[in-house]
Order: sequence, then structure tokens, then C-alpha cells
Amino acid sequence: MVCPSCGEYAHRSRSRNFRESFLKYVSPLRPYRCPSCGWRGYAAPARINFAKIDRRAVFVWIAGMLLAVAVGFFGAGMAR
Ligand SMILES: [Zn+2]
Repeated sequence: MVCPSCGEYAHRSRSRNFRESFLKYVSPLRPYRCPSCGWRGYAAPARINFAKIDRRAVFVWIAGMLLAVAVGFFGAGMAR
């Protein structure tokens, strides 16, 4: 991908910590780094392999939603 800061070619950067690994796991975003100006940021690759990422990501989101609903439900029940 092209660096939005200087227009040079920015290459994929490795996930540095857990947060980046998690983001990588649940979204198509990947960290990029520009060797020319040092810019670092997230972008979706030009070609996203939906078949590969979607099932995992959707499962994580649905699990999160169910958990949020469950917590909301039981929280409301206890408040009553
Ligand atoms: Zn740059």
C-alpha cells in the first residue's frame, strides 16, 4: 500500500503486541509501516480474503454481542 504521509511504498509491519494481534484477529486491518518517513498505521489490504477472515471475525463479534446482551439482561434483572 502507499504511505498516506509521503506517498512511498509502505510495507506490512509485524504485530508488536497483544492489542495488534487481537485487531489482526478480529478485523481485516493490518499494520503498515513506511520505511521512508516512519509512518505507521492500519489499513485493509487491497485484496481482502473474505472467505478466510469472515468466519472467525463474525464468530468473535456474535460471541461478544451475546455476552453483552446476557450481561445487560442479568444486570437489569438484578437491578429490579
Ligand atoms: Zn512515508
